[in-house]
Amino acid sequence: MAHPTRRLVVTAVTAVLLVALGLVAPPDRSGLVGPESATAASLPQPGQRGTSVRALQQRLVQAGYLRAQYRTGYYGSRTKKAVKALQRASKLKATGRMTRATDRALTTAVAAMKGPRTWYHSETIGRSQSGRAISAYRAGEPGRPVVVVMATMHGEEDFGQYVAYGLLEGRPVRGVDLWVVPVVNPDGLAHDRRWVDGHVDLNRNFPYAWVKRANSGPRAVSERETRVIMDFLRRTQPRYLVSWHQPLNGVDTDKVKDLALSKRLAANLQLPLKELDCGGVCHGTMTAWYNHTFAGAAVTVEYGSAARSTRRMKTRDADAVLAAVGGRRG
Ligand SMILES: [Zn+2]
Repeated sequence: MAHPTRRLVVTAVTAVLLVALGLVAPPDRSGLVGPESATAASLPQPGQRGTSVRALQQRLVQAGYLRAQYRTGYYGSRTKKAVKALQRASKLKATGRMTRATDRALTTAVAAMKGPRTWYHSETIGRSQSGRAISAYRAGEPGRPVVVVMATMHGEEDFGQYVAYGLLEGRPVRGVDLWVVPVVNPDGLAHDRRWVDGHVDLNRNFPYAWVKRANSGPRAVSERETRVIMDFLRRTQPRYLVSWHQPLNGVDTDKVKDLALSKRLAANLQLPLKELDCGGVCHGTMTAWYNHTFAGAAVTVEYGSAARSTRRMKTRDADAVLAAVGGRRG
């Protein structure tokens, strides 16, 4: 009679041998056995929450399977539905669970959404408080009017980055010397929050009309990101600076320098014109500092709280901005 413990050991040893010989796949933590389960345990799964879920959701948004407002960090029914749609489109079993094959299909789907790059130069213009790179890309034609498009200054406002990436893909950009900074606040984006590290609102930290408030920093230009952006704008001195936010759904008309620019953006993007007055008077904003200090015109564009489709933001909306600042696709 075999001792029960010894029988268990023999069974376990046999299983390990079979796995080692590649004859059977090891079970994952959920008890499912299959060719995908060897590494599936490390992939995010329904019911989980956290940064790996958020990273998965960002890829699903990039691939066009999830609307950007659902980058929540929670693997709920919306994410499951998006994963199922991806699996069906990739001829995989539609379970809504992440498998290694689904992960590979997602990588393919993200790549498929990307057009050829328009930019010819990229650089790290500085680093965030936590050391993340802040990247700028240059596209278009040197010698033409300089235009800067920025997004994700508030880390949870991540829709605008898709317009920014759309400008960096597709047919070549003509008529403008275009700089794009898709993510001004990478720490905020990583943590899905408005602030830069240290609980300061970057868009209250610029030195024009700065006032001391709980969110404006200990002094004007106290934040590393503020200095990075100021140095970059001093260097490039754009004719037009377009700064993307959400969710106020409109193009700013409050003390803007070039109302015609606001009108063109609003018409092209199908957004209303609005006085975005920060609920009273704006203090320490980037656009006010830029408009006060330089010859060029800065303006804020706000998407609404619901994201447009990734494809629309990357194509139609990117082209809409380009046309509003005097550029085109060539
Ligand atoms: Zn904002």
